[in-house]
Amino acid sequence: MTDAQPATDPEPMSREWNYHPDLPLADSSIFKWPPEPRFLGRWVWRNWLMMSERVMMVLLATLCWWLLYPSLETAKTVAPGWIIQVWLVNLGLMVAIAGGLHWFFYMRRAQGKALKFDHREPARGNRLWNFSDQVHDNMFWSLGSGVAQLTLFQVAIMWLMANGYVPTITLASNPVWFIAGLVLLPIWSAFHFYWVHRLLHVPFIYKHVHALHHRNVNIGPWSGLSMHPVEHLLYISSLLIHCVIASHPIHLFFHVIYLGPGAAMTHTGYEDLLIKDKRKLALGTFYHQLHHRYYECNYGNQEMPWDRWFGTFHNGSEEGTRVTRARKKKMHRNI
Ligand SMILES: [Zn+2]
Ligand SMILES: [Zn+2]
Repeated sequence: MTDAQPATDPEPMSREWNYHPDLPLADSSIFKWPPEPRFLGRWVWRNWLMMSERVMMVLLATLCWWLLYPSLETAKTVAPGWIIQVWLVNLGLMVAIAGGLHWFFYMRRAQGKALKFDHREPARGNRLWNFSDQVHDNMFWSLGSGVAQLTLFQVAIMWLMANGYVPTITLASNPVWFIAGLVLLPIWSAFHFYWVHRLLHVPFIYKHVHALHHRNVNIGPWSGLSMHPVEHLLYISSLLIHCVIASHPIHLFFHVIYLGPGAAMTHTGYEDLLIKDKRKLALGTFYHQLHHRYYECNYGNQEMPWDRWFGTFHNGSEEGTRVTRARKKKMHRNI
């Protein structure tokens, strides 16, 4: 696979990847102008009207609200018991989801390499990683700083909600906003992530902070939340939206799951989960996989327009790679 390819190679991208979707990537932004009703209809259908990642996360958030997380009544006073309870639930969710996906794809190898982007397996025996093991290193950062900071933000916002210091709603008082909030949260989170991510790629910050996440060129479920603690702080600050916009605890819990275990789902290294050769669940995107391979492109996610609007979109073509490499060279010239 590493043999030099002739300059006239007709399908260079296909040789670099084990799998990739049809290229160049289409513009799948939901902010296209003029709006395309059929496209938007399909987006709603795929994301909200079938068993998608998002619907599963909302159901999980509701279940956690009902059965596992402490009530807002309990959260009124700061006490170690309920805070530890939130932390343990979050640890459990992360282990179950990232661990479950890792087990399915990389231990049981239930899908072989079908729809896997990168040819390679997780790295072992390489000093680049703590414990010389990519998966153990990724678990260390995710379960350590990642879950701890997610919990701290969540606990603080629960306490603020419980004491009426931030605006809240109930399903009965505001059903329309309750539903709209669920649909809008991933859009807010993607907007926040794009700008935080641009900041993380400022060369000085990249070198000292974000490079830790980018050691994962070949990604797996545990890579998603494997970040430097400063990156965790910036990334998880997306939750602060609940301090200004009226929300329900289920919104907060959905947001927590979206940022934490959700990152494991988008970093599986596979495009979709197959059951009996049928695509059953959309997971990672080639869009973000390109970011992990070429760095200075695709800072956001594919359904948001930011990369296209700000000229950082790599559509998977050779030309995209050339432009991205030139940008990288220019940005890192002075360090
Ligand atoms: Zn990533
Ligand atoms: Zn990055």
